[in-house]
Amino acid sequence: MTKARPEIDWEAKRRDMVARQIEARGIRDPRVLEAMRRIPRELFIPEEHRRFACDDEPVSIGFGQTASQPYMTALMAECLELQGSETVLEVGAGCGYHAAVLGALAAQVIAVEIVPELAEMASRTLREQRRDGNIRVLCGDGSRGWPPLAPYDAISVAAAAPAEPAELLEQLRDPGVLVIPVGSIWEQELRVVTKRQGRVQTRVATFCRFVPLRGPGGWP
Ligand code: SAH
Repeated sequence: MTKARPEIDWEAKRRDMVARQIEARGIRDPRVLEAMRRIPRELFIPEEHRRFACDDEPVSIGFGQTASQPYMTALMAECLELQGSETVLEVGAGCGYHAAVLGALAAQVIAVEIVPELAEMASRTLREQRRDGNIRVLCGDGSRGWPPLAPYDAISVAAAAPAEPAELLEQLRDPGVLVIPVGSIWEQELRVVTKRQGRVQTRVATFCRFVPLRGPGGWP
């Protein structure tokens, strides 16, 4: 007789993930914390890696890509200071988890993904969870933003660029916030760029390591 594997209590796992990895590191925005407790991150991760869904590191989603470490998703979301009425552009949708978090915090999310299979997977998961009402996944190169739907109140880039692509700043509304990892292929700083009354200011939120942004605004 084979023993059935014990069921994983995902709700408890997510609560624990938020408490130990996210709140403990200083994320305070209650809307971000609540979204990450509630959204079933595990359902965005392909089955073969699902058991790692709430681990404190990036998780493989196939095609050489990863879902960001949960803390990084939380930090990026908090940096955008979303109130609920915004239109957000996400570049690098991957499995769609980060888009789901942004969708819980803003009015509308446009998530662009360059790998067709991942774009398809993200759309499917978001649809299955009925989160596709305010989240649109588009397949294409977002390294220069997505001009047809600009401007955006907030832009979140989930892949590393050598510099902030000028087109992203142009597509950012005033006031608006852009969060993007900038640096070399191996290490970057997470930059938070705010545009307000025509002035652009940049601060560094943390150091990080993201997969490279492909295309003309990233590494060709
Ligand atoms: N936001 C995701 C992280 C995905 S990893 C999450 O946390 O769940 C970064 C993603 O960026 C990868 O899926 C990669 O394929 C995608 N990517 C890289 N360059 C891109 C580009 N120029 N346009 C759109 N997506 C891109």
